[in-house]
Amino acid sequence: MLEIKNVDVFYDKNQSEVLIDINLQIKTGEIYAIIGPSGCGKSTLLKAISGLTPYSKGEILLNKKKISAKHHTIGLIPQNYGLLTWKTVFDNILLPLNIKGRQIDKTTLTNIDEIMEKLEIRLLKDQFPNKLSGGQKQRVAIARAFVLQPDILLMDEPFSALDALTRENIQELFLKIWKEQNITTLLITHSVEEAIYLGTKIVIMSPSPGRIITILDNPVHKIENKRTSLEHL
Ligand code: ADP
Ligand code: ADP
Repeated sequence: MLEIKNVDVFYDKNQSEVLIDINLQIKTGEIYAIIGPSGCGKSTLLKAISGLTPYSKGEILLNKKKISAKHHTIGLIPQNYGLLTWKTVFDNILLPLNIKGRQIDKTTLTNIDEIMEKLEIRLLKDQFPNKLSGGQKQRVAIARAFVLQPDILLMDEPFSALDALTRENIQELFLKIWKEQNITTLLITHSVEEAIYLGTKIVIMSPSPGRIITILDNPVHKIENKRTSLEHL
């Protein structure tokens, strides 16, 4: 359970607020799709959760503990993929494990191999990111986020730079892996369609300074949809 309680963010003490009184309680295994106008603080919210931006009020708890990279594993897929250009695809995927000081044993390597297989990037293992298409980079970023089996996954407009066909294909691959790990996810998107497709809940934010206007249940999101259609057979 991720609990965001009364969180305010200012970028500068004397400046106006960026986020006002953000409250969210996210159960394990939910995908919260966050929609709001550009500049309303969506990226800032993800940065506050991941510890990249300080918040001036409130608290953020993951499984009842103040969220921190020390106690939790946080998977982050930033807007521009965040791949290191001087490292190969494989080394990029290994990065979170190295940062966490995890042992790279045989089981880990098998696990990485499986994830790369599912995302159809195994053959790209030794390539450098500059040589990859947008869709390929995105799949590497997804592999890197999932490799630690994170407690929480934060995605900042992960599919928006892709053409429609590539996007659909990668959304499917993402859901396939996501379902196996069932990771609590926050997904920023500016696409209502994407929010409805992927979000179990849809959070709508106001224009800047960002507040949460409403949180909607999404009975027709892809995951639930599959379950209900099977029940109806
Ligand atoms: P969104 O992701 O919803 O487009 P952001 O979180 O990127 O919005 O930005 C929210 C507001 O905070 C904007 O007004 C933006 O200009 C401002 N902002 C973002 N990053 C910084 C920063 N590092 N310093 C000061 N202001 C910032
Ligand atoms: P993004 O959301 O694209 O990952 P940021 O959150 O860093 O990037 O920035 C979002 C917006 O905030 C951009 O429009 C950027 O120009 C603005 N911004 C970033 N840093 C600052 C800053 N130090 N002061 C004011 N505005 C900023």
